[in-house]
Amino acid sequence: MVGGNAIRGMRIGASGPSSESERGETAPRNIVSYWCANGHESRRSFALDAEIPDEWDCPKCGLLGGQDEQNPPSAGRAEPFKSHLEYVKERRSEEDGQALLEEALEKLRQRRGRA
Ligand SMILES: [Zn+2]
Repeated sequence: MVGGNAIRGMRIGASGPSSESERGETAPRNIVSYWCANGHESRRSFALDAEIPDEWDCPKCGLLGGQDEQNPPSAGRAEPFKSHLEYVKERRSEEDGQALLEEALEKLRQRRGRA
C-alpha cells in the first residue's frame, strides 16, 4: 500500500482526474514536492493525516531535498563540496605534520653538529 503511493501521486498529476477512481480508492492526499540542490524535483504523496517531513532525500542524486524550490538545503551528508574541504584540510594537516617533522629533524641535526 505505502510503496505505491508515490507512483499513484505522479499519475494523478500527469493524467487528470479520471484515473483517481481506478480502484474506488479516493482518499485525498497531500502531494508535496521536494527540490534538491541540483534542481531535481521529487514528488511525494502523503495521507492527509500523515506527518509531512520538511526534507526528503533526492532519489536521483541522493542529496537532501527541501520544499522550497528557491532555497534547497545545501548541507547534506553526501555533499561533494564538504568532502572536498575535508580533503583539503587533511592534506594541509599532513603537510603541517611533514613540516614539523622536517623542523624537528633540522634541530636535531644542528644539535648534533654542534655537539
Ligand atoms: Zn537531486
